[in-house]
Amino acid sequence: MTERRYNAFSDELRRVFGCRVQRVSVDAGLTCPNRDGTTGLGGCIFCGGRGSGSFGIRPELGVADQLAHGMAYLSRRYGAGKFLAYFQPYSNTYAPVEQLRRLYDEALSVPGVAGLIVGTRPDCLPPEVIDLLAEYARSTYFWLELGMQTSHDRTLDLLNRGHDAASFLDAADRCRQRGIRLCAHVILGLPGETGADMLATAMMLTRAGIDGVKLHHLHVMKDTPLEAMYRRGAVGCLERDDYVGLVCDFLERLDPRTVVHRLVGDAPADHLVAPAWTLEKSAVLAAIDAEFIRRGTCQGARLSR
Ligand code: SF4
Repeated sequence: MTERRYNAFSDELRRVFGCRVQRVSVDAGLTCPNRDGTTGLGGCIFCGGRGSGSFGIRPELGVADQLAHGMAYLSRRYGAGKFLAYFQPYSNTYAPVEQLRRLYDEALSVPGVAGLIVGTRPDCLPPEVIDLLAEYARSTYFWLELGMQTSHDRTLDLLNRGHDAASFLDAADRCRQRGIRLCAHVILGLPGETGADMLATAMMLTRAGIDGVKLHHLHVMKDTPLEAMYRRGAVGCLERDDYVGLVCDFLERLDPRTVVHRLVGDAPADHLVAPAWTLEKSAVLAAIDAEFIRRGTCQGARLSR
């Protein structure tokens, strides 16, 4: 096995639980303020109709049944011993607190579920929701995933995110004060961003003391505004080797204690427009390991002490 030069989530889970742990994605049937008109309409330009990362989930089933299906599959495929319920598509704190509590408790009641990951947006964290999340952060293994994508407001505008970098930092600060561990989503290769822009995002996360990061490259999915922009040549995608180099550059500037939850995005072949190398996830991860070894560096290597 290739030596890993970054603080991988799978290693953190093995340290905490002593066995292989898998995330199981759950669709709670919620929506997103950037789609329903509260913050914006149409959503982020890269987002498909069922929110980001919803592929393969069966929202017609309840939370417990979705988990049971996913866990049976992941047990067979990977021999996983424990599971984290991953509330992934849309904004999973965008509902009244009692509804959220019911959803999270239903997930935790499923035998084998050892914790929660909840994905959301910076504008879906009012004080009463932070109070609720702080309860779970005290009582179970818990991560809050927060979409940031970039530290640059001009790019956030172009993506139609409906929030700025300051709102992300404010939300992160409020979470930290309550002991809620936070994982930031970042996309590399966003339109108009230079390598220096992307590294500035890494430095911002390090300065902010973010607990975790989830990286992926900009990939174009069918039936999104981004697809139209891509087809008329207004945006392009990174080459695989350029992405590998950028990931290493990025991680070299990230605090070594920051947990790396993901380094390559997932996209099913029948929904993907570009780049084709998105489908070669294992090869990309191996190339990142190899590039770190070639450089003789690791996560945090370019931070001054
Ligand atoms: S915030 Fe998430 S769910 Fe909402 S439009 Fe953007 S990517 Fe889609």
